[in-house]
Amino acid sequence: MSPGLDGGRRTTEIGGIRTSPRTMDMPMVRSALLAALSFAAVASPLASSLSAQAPDAIPAKYATIANRIIAAAQADSAGAWNRIAELSDRFGHRLSGSKALEDAIRWTAATMEQDGLVNVKREKVMVPHWVRGAESLELVAPRRQLLPMLGLGGSIATPAGGITAEVMVVASFEELAQRASEAKGKIVLYDAEWRDYGYNGAFRRTGAIAAAKAGAVASLARAAGPYSMRTPHTGNMSYDSTVTKIPHASVTSEDAMMIRRMINRGETVRVTLTMSAQMLPDAESHNVMGELRGREKPDEIVVMGGHIDSWDVGQGAMDDAGGVVVAWEAIRLLKKLGLTPRRTIRAVGWTNEENGGRGGPAYRDAHRNEVHQLAIESDGGVFSPLGFGFTGSPAARAIITSIASLLNPINAGKIEASGGGADIAAIMATGVPGMGLNVDGTRYFWFHHTDADTPDKLNPAEVQRCVAVMAVMAYIAADIEQALPR
Ligand SMILES: [Zn+2]
Repeated sequence: MSPGLDGGRRTTEIGGIRTSPRTMDMPMVRSALLAALSFAAVASPLASSLSAQAPDAIPAKYATIANRIIAAAQADSAGAWNRIAELSDRFGHRLSGSKALEDAIRWTAATMEQDGLVNVKREKVMVPHWVRGAESLELVAPRRQLLPMLGLGGSIATPAGGITAEVMVVASFEELAQRASEAKGKIVLYDAEWRDYGYNGAFRRTGAIAAAKAGAVASLARAAGPYSMRTPHTGNMSYDSTVTKIPHASVTSEDAMMIRRMINRGETVRVTLTMSAQMLPDAESHNVMGELRGREKPDEIVVMGGHIDSWDVGQGAMDDAGGVVVAWEAIRLLKKLGLTPRRTIRAVGWTNEENGGRGGPAYRDAHRNEVHQLAIESDGGVFSPLGFGFTGSPAARAIITSIASLLNPINAGKIEASGGGADIAAIMATGVPGMGLNVDGTRYFWFHHTDADTPDKLNPAEVQRCVAVMAVMAYIAADIEQALPR
């Protein structure tokens, strides 16, 4: 998951397109009405509501199918969870450029084929190839102790013997700016209490730039999460070409607080940071995908999925094997139920979401000539589903809201003001309506980008509900008569 992946928080008004009584969609009523109407009346606005599948008509038309999908997803007690666990256990974490990622992508393609998905493809994408190498952080004064740490993705290495320097602790960028004259030659530690991912993630993303501007020789960011069992959190970071590059790493909340306490007592804290990270030449990776082909408009696509790559810690189960698997399992479920929608549904595992974001734009470019009805991303963990965030026109929102009402029986029918995701941002920028799966994210940032991102953090019944939600939304969005209005 990346910051700002919700389509930029664009707020959209809910459209008031609720004009047609649902009986209008019933053929008998329709033909009787048509027979009774004059030509003048046929040309009236009433006539257009007869042929369109108005939002209000969707729940009645699709309630039985939605309930079947939900029941079938819930009857399968752990199918999707087992698959997340298999993907996570077989290949482990899957950083861009790694053999594990490409092995996982090949396995995903082969397993999609076994499941009967069609047009299974791996589409080449060149991705950044950063490797962590050996790394450590040692407290050397006022006493010696090795501290758990993770270099941040994209960071440069330290010199071979490491960097030993005094630590300066700040709570914010503002405090660093005020005390900039003290930072020269030191290691700046950002010790910000948890607010949210956007706020705390900023110290990880741009902390090295601000620290280097103040003359620091390295920087450390307190892990971005609301709860810690001494887990550092990795993630992407960036440099500014006009500012000296310095090494940048994550420390645990516990150690950041300890260092602050030591300094507050008047002690001088010194650490040795040693990192051997390298940026290698770009490597070959792939977006991986498979389809349930549409019965009437197979060239029009509802695309959904998550990212197949992960950070190089834990197993990337929650972030984001779960997102890929629920999309793929949703198609498997629809096939099992014999449900073939009007348009094609495509499940995609995008590559390189975490440290480059190359998969999304590559998908857009490779599929530029296709008509996309809708794009759906799942990258917030497959916990208990709540609904979706949606970004699109008011008229499309009315249709999506109507479809989502069929998810109310499992409390997953809420459509938020905006939504999308890092991997579908590129295709959404071409005008495709986009949405992101919303879940109960209470525990997501406990484990995000840590060694603790393992399958046991996910609940099989919650994962099955995510499958149900993706399947219902994708099926109906792919099956309705009309194109989602842009
Ligand atoms: Zn993610």
